[in-house]
Amino acid sequence: MKGLSKSFGDLEVLKNINMEIEKGKVVTIMGPSGSGKTTLLRCLNALEEPTTGEFHFEDGFHVNFNQKLKKQDLLTLRRKSGMVFQSYNLFPHKTALENVTEGPLVVQKRDQQAVIEQAKRLLTKVGLQDKMDLYPYQLSGGQQQRVGIARALAIEPELMLFDEPTSALDPELVGDVLNVIKELANEGWTMAVVTHEVQFATEVSDHVIFMDGGYIVEQGTPQKVLTNPREERTQQFLQRIL
Ligand code: ADP
Repeated sequence: MKGLSKSFGDLEVLKNINMEIEKGKVVTIMGPSGSGKTTLLRCLNALEEPTTGEFHFEDGFHVNFNQKLKKQDLLTLRRKSGMVFQSYNLFPHKTALENVTEGPLVVQKRDQQAVIEQAKRLLTKVGLQDKMDLYPYQLSGGQQQRVGIARALAIEPELMLFDEPTSALDPELVGDVLNVIKELANEGWTMAVVTHEVQFATEVSDHVIFMDGGYIVEQGTPQKVLTNPREERTQQFLQRIL
């Protein structure tokens, strides 16, 4: 990601962001509320269109937001990543299984039987083999979020994006969701995770980005950014949340 900026009207919320997410690595994004973390993920997933900047992918695909974007490029970009939202964003009138099959069937138009088999496998992987036919209101927050993770995996993205995946959960439900994310990291998924969970970030990240005021203030290994932060803003933030 090169020179990315994003404005909402006069408000510039991302300012010249340069970052790299290596294949198979986990990048964690931390920083105070309002610093631009969610907007950054939404730009990566093309839910927001950046004002300026470029994305370059290893396979040669690139988009340049300084020029008018082709619709096909936007669709290609969107398909590269799966997003897990803070508030789950499940379809309330669909079962866990139907939530997971919706994208592959309706958007990707893949073979129905194969999609159902895959969805069952993914729901089993996140520990919900007994809950496949339940509706979101019949599931705990942690279970709903695990459906959200299975749903994002089902579109077979190159990159998994997690936007504060545990911040809406009761404390006793956080562990199960973090364990699923850790398992994905161990399997070699490429991921960008916005989180305030310092312990988790230290364990799981290859690279940590600390943002404030729309800028990347500091980035590096978890040891560098979380254990020995150089910047005062990072130090203050970590003191506040630890
Ligand atoms: P974070 O995830 O770090 O809390 P956000 O990316 O959600 O930060 O927000 C960064 C800034 O952008 C905030 O000032 C927020 O109010 C603003 N913002 C986010 N989305 C919109 C939007 N759709 N319209 C206007 N302002 C927005």
